[in-house]
Amino acid sequence: MSRKLAAVIGTAAAAALVLGGLFAVALGRSAQPTPTAAAGGSTTGSVPPPTPTSTPPTTPPTTPNTNAGKPVADPTASLVTGNKKVIFFSFDDGPDPVWTPRVLQVLKKHGAHATFFQLGRNQAQYPALRDQILADGNTIGSHSINHPQLTKLSAAERHHEIFDGPQSKCFRPPYGASNPKVRADIKAAGMAQVLWDVDPRDWAKPGVNAIAHNIMTHAHRRNIVLMHDGGGDRAQTVAALDKVLGQLKAQGYSFPAMDC
Ligand SMILES: [Zn+2]
Repeated sequence: MSRKLAAVIGTAAAAALVLGGLFAVALGRSAQPTPTAAAGGSTTGSVPPPTPTSTPPTTPPTTPNTNAGKPVADPTASLVTGNKKVIFFSFDDGPDPVWTPRVLQVLKKHGAHATFFQLGRNQAQYPALRDQILADGNTIGSHSINHPQLTKLSAAERHHEIFDGPQSKCFRPPYGASNPKVRADIKAAGMAQVLWDVDPRDWAKPGVNAIAHNIMTHAHRRNIVLMHDGGGDRAQTVAALDKVLGQLKAQGYSFPAMDC
């Protein structure tokens, strides 16, 4: 065999190896379970009950959402590569001047990060909390302006709640209530719809142990856990978070913020 022919065969073999590798990577990726958040599903299989909120409506923020038109991707995709044990914590209905700082304190204590799905009316009232959340390495998602059930609004009202809310690449519809029109508006606003995999029902205040047990029983790799830093007394949420972060960390989990 001539040296030239050997080199050609060698190159072809290398190319085949590279292609094979790429194919394997593609297969590996497609074999991974898709987070239900991206698909818009929920393991609970039903629309969660309304989250009680005691905050009175305030003037919506005037900052326009400048993300419109940007490509939308799964905000967890870049963070779940390989076999890395990750769980995504998320906090809805804030920011709240009492409970958001306490959640941030617990996250920091455990070297954890989270995504805060904020209401525009609260964000406008407490802009410093938004800055503190971001400064700590967390991310912010939009949870609309006033927490309405978007599927029951007129097109104009729905558009306003989605387009004029907190600036983000991620949007979580209140009560998880969505439909093709809601999803189309979220997409048109340059955002990805993000739901959750695990709902420990912290908003119902079932007790610290019940919240922690629910999370420890149901949370698996790549799951999104739904909790609340607004909408009422969140003492149980804060205590349960402290408990589960310690236990999950001992199991090898890390807690990145979603790419929002
Ligand atoms: Zn909510």
